[in-house]
Amino acid sequence: DIGNAGDTLGVEVFVVGGFVRDLMLEQPIEDVDVVVEGDGIAFASYFASLHHCRLHQHRKFNTAVIIFEDGLKVDVASARLEYYATPAALPVVENSSIKMDLARRDFTINTLAISLNTETFGTLIDYFGGVRDVKDKIVRIIHNLSFIEDPTRIFRAIKFSNRFGFRIGKVTANLIKNALNVGAVKNLSGLRVLSELKQIFGEENPLPAVQTMADYGLDKVIHHDLKLTDTTCALFESVGKTLAWHDLLYADDVYPRWAVYFMAWLHGYPFAVSIQIADRLMFPVKEKERLIEQRIKSEHRIRLIEKSYPVSTQQIYWWLIHFKTECLLFMLALTKNESVRKAISHFYTHQRKIKPLIGGKDLKSVGIKPGPVYTTILNKIIDEKLDGKLNTMEEEIKFAK
Ligand code: ATP
Repeated sequence: DIGNAGDTLGVEVFVVGGFVRDLMLEQPIEDVDVVVEGDGIAFASYFASLHHCRLHQHRKFNTAVIIFEDGLKVDVASARLEYYATPAALPVVENSSIKMDLARRDFTINTLAISLNTETFGTLIDYFGGVRDVKDKIVRIIHNLSFIEDPTRIFRAIKFSNRFGFRIGKVTANLIKNALNVGAVKNLSGLRVLSELKQIFGEENPLPAVQTMADYGLDKVIHHDLKLTDTTCALFESVGKTLAWHDLLYADDVYPRWAVYFMAWLHGYPFAVSIQIADRLMFPVKEKERLIEQRIKSEHRIRLIEKSYPVSTQQIYWWLIHFKTECLLFMLALTKNESVRKAISHFYTHQRKIKPLIGGKDLKSVGIKPGPVYTTILNKIIDEKLDGKLNTMEEEIKFAK
């Protein structure tokens, strides 16, 4: 349908980048990126009105997002046709704008395009050797100044090589080292580094990427005290197992996966160093609090539980109930004590959702005067419920009285 719309408007339309790469690698597809040789916004508006899709426009960037009813998003970008006269003043040459668009991309594996117009439908466009590099499993930049031009590509190279099990090409690896030597990452804004790190930590298994980052000395650029130790590597593996367990059983329970690995990455660093790292990465205040304070609290809490074990069900509940999912998962990954791990996973599975069926209104209606006593009563009800008692509202009211 996209190709037909292109035919009607007389513009060439291509699906590009990650979509084509993932298609070749038989990876699940998430985003669809389309490039239109011409006015992308006009194209997207036409397509969206024809197919009753929602549309977001970004005039500043000449891009638009088509949102289908089932949630599928298609990003549409504009590639302008560019004309230039040859030095010998021969006739004006039309430079393929799709080629220019693809030439601006980061790695050869991201420069593939497939034509969508009817006549050329399915034609694979490969100007930079992307097909060969996908087959050879190699991450390679397109031009030598790529990392200087945009140092976030260093993180992206590591992300892609880790995700697909590709190696980083020799020249590309040397250019990364070179860019680091001339301080390219030092000057990179914290926000951009953070955004790349979140993506790396959000991957299925970020450990090899973190190791590669350490090999290049990227962690030291973020903070001179950062040092990847065997303990951190072992913790990453433990996080991996914990998240696999969690995601299998609680597919609907959404949490920031990257945050668990981030906490593991900073495990053991003192508060002051952690804050310096968070500041370097320009963490928003709320996230900083969550990741630094909550991480340190989680580390203390798990040690407390280990030290005090065995403890009552009620104690476990009150020690854990105010921690977010990512912190509980971090604690689970941290402990080497099998009984403690079982107690926490039991809390997570069976007790974390336990709440009184009655509330303040019910207490008032039976003549109990409002005040701090309400919290005491409701908490006592929870204690009882943790023992499998008080299963109905009537039982809870009777107990409250
Ligand atoms: P992912 O699956 O991680 O989303 P992707 O390839 O779709 O991978 P995006 O970050 O969504 O990556 O970017 C879309 C496309 O934009 C990429 O395929 C790449 O060609 C291009 N791109 C993104 N970031 C850069 C960059 N820093 N420099 C050059 N090109 C980039």
